[in-house]
Amino acid sequence: MGSVSIAARAKGLTKIYGSGSALVTALDRVDFEIVKGEFTAIMGPSGSGKSTLMHLMAALDTPTDGEVWIGDTAVSSLADTPLTVLRRDRIGFIFQAFNLVPTLSARENIVLPLAIAGHKIDEAWFNQVVDVLGLGDRLTHKPSELSGGQQQRVACARALMNRPDIVFGDEPTGNLDSTSAAEVLGFLRRSVDEFGQTVVMVTHDAHAASYADRAVFLSDGRIVDELRGASQEELLQAMARIYPRHDQSHDEPFRAPASEADEASATSEGAPEVSAKAQEPADQAEPTAFEPQADRSAVYRDGGHAPSHRGEPEDEEEPTVERSIARRAALD
Ligand code: ADP
Ligand code: MG
Repeated sequence: MGSVSIAARAKGLTKIYGSGSALVTALDRVDFEIVKGEFTAIMGPSGSGKSTLMHLMAALDTPTDGEVWIGDTAVSSLADTPLTVLRRDRIGFIFQAFNLVPTLSARENIVLPLAIAGHKIDEAWFNQVVDVLGLGDRLTHKPSELSGGQQQRVACARALMNRPDIVFGDEPTGNLDSTSAAEVLGFLRRSVDEFGQTVVMVTHDAHAASYADRAVFLSDGRIVDELRGASQEELLQAMARIYPRHDQSHDEPFRAPASEADEASATSEGAPEVSAKAQEPADQAEPTAFEPQADRSAVYRDGGHAPSHRGEPEDEEEPTVERSIARRAALD
């Protein structure tokens, strides 16, 4: 096998939800390795455990049993603060529902995690990513002034800004038309080929997975097969073989569980976890793929008013652009 490096791995990973007659084994003793510099797709029908596996690998949720390592770091060994730092500095996320902050411009959304962390913006890296994503003339636009595809490209730039060890995407093209989906998938592919980025994407779609180097197939919480370098046709054939009871001739609707794993992680975090909070409101109210876009942003906006009585927090620190962006985001 030579000297492949492992960006993250899981051993005996098990996640059980509920108890008694409501008990669901979402992941069943999964062993899994994410190879550094590769684009991995996690595939499977709705309910097979894709999101659960991704959330656990991304240290967004804790397993019932088993262990996850990000690089050499055993996630279960980390206390809350180093865990927050690990997520912030070493992991990037792209959500199906974009999860941009509606009151911030594209540029402000892209640098928000850095701003919250108090890290300096690497302008050369920013320009390179924005250039590859073709966002140069959209940086002052608010999310509501951008198409879905542009919004997701902003989310891609945001995920890459801190040069994370791994970028995770959960159905990142699930809300996009095929042209926008191809742009986002093409970018993820380029980020692997040109930036050496490690990317892990959850998808039930063979076309999306055909951009990946490797596709891992889940069924009932277990990894049952994998393919390398497979074409869309080969992936479809594999799906027909592995999931004979599922009709692959049309896209299955994305089914968002009533209470996603990230809901638990959002509440288990302390107050300093502004970065996750800023990314999560839309995710918690995650609609199905077929819910009209307008409804979703309305829900988001309704919850998004910053009460004026919160006013300006007393901040002893020197005011910087980064801090002021972070403060505005925190007030959303
Ligand atoms: P996928 O992403 O492949 O659709 P999930 O990982 O979301 O699958 O879910 C795997 C199984 O775990 C499903 O049966 C789902 O209903 C269940 N599940 C997921 N999240 C929760 C939760 N928070 N509470 C209870 N059951 C859950
Ligand atoms: Mg899912």
